[in-house]
Amino acid sequence: MKQLVLATANAHKVIEFQRILNELIPDLELIAASSFPGVPEVSETGATFAENALLKARAISEFTKLPALADDSGLCVECLSGSPGIYSARYASPTSNDAQNVEKILKEIEDVETDLLGAHFECALAFVDLSENIELVVDGVMQGSLIKEVRGKNGFGYDPIFVPQGLSQTSAEISNSEKDQLSHRGKALRKMAVILSQLDFA
Ligand code: IMP
Repeated sequence: MKQLVLATANAHKVIEFQRILNELIPDLELIAASSFPGVPEVSETGATFAENALLKARAISEFTKLPALADDSGLCVECLSGSPGIYSARYASPTSNDAQNVEKILKEIEDVETDLLGAHFECALAFVDLSENIELVVDGVMQGSLIKEVRGKNGFGYDPIFVPQGLSQTSAEISNSEKDQLSHRGKALRKMAVILSQLDFA
């Protein structure tokens, strides 16, 4: 059984990671980093999604002595010059929640023409196995556009205001399995699963 520590405290992400990775690598045991007492909280001080993902995966692999997987993701809005980007989780304030972040974006795009609301989600996914000296990063992107109202109850974060390219529903109105097929994290995880299935770790 391959063991892999997931370096995220976001319960939604842990569930997504398990759903997608276990489908492709059934002999993989995913362990949440939070189940290790004293696990460090890693500051996202990088300038890019990839740097932040690597910082988290390195710290967790070092602490647990196991291979670790970490992601950093966010929403990039064209008319806001790519914001909130790496600051997506705490866009409205350092302690803001999803609803407050969505509200801030809705205010910022209030006067923007509908056809100028292009946006995408981006995900960088890092795998680090310090004992084997392995570090690698893959990415995934989901293109789409924003709407000026919240719609749907699935998903999390900015899902209720994001319509994936080619759909009319928001990503909060589609099922988990539909989102997995389209999402930035789904794409990155499937790329990573192909690599991990060929590696012989722990
Ligand atoms: P992270 O946990 O630092 O990667 O921050 C990710 C933030 O980006 C989340 O808190 C959400 O606000 C946003 N985000 C990332 N992926 C998604 C998604 O699939 N749907 C909606 N929001 C997302």
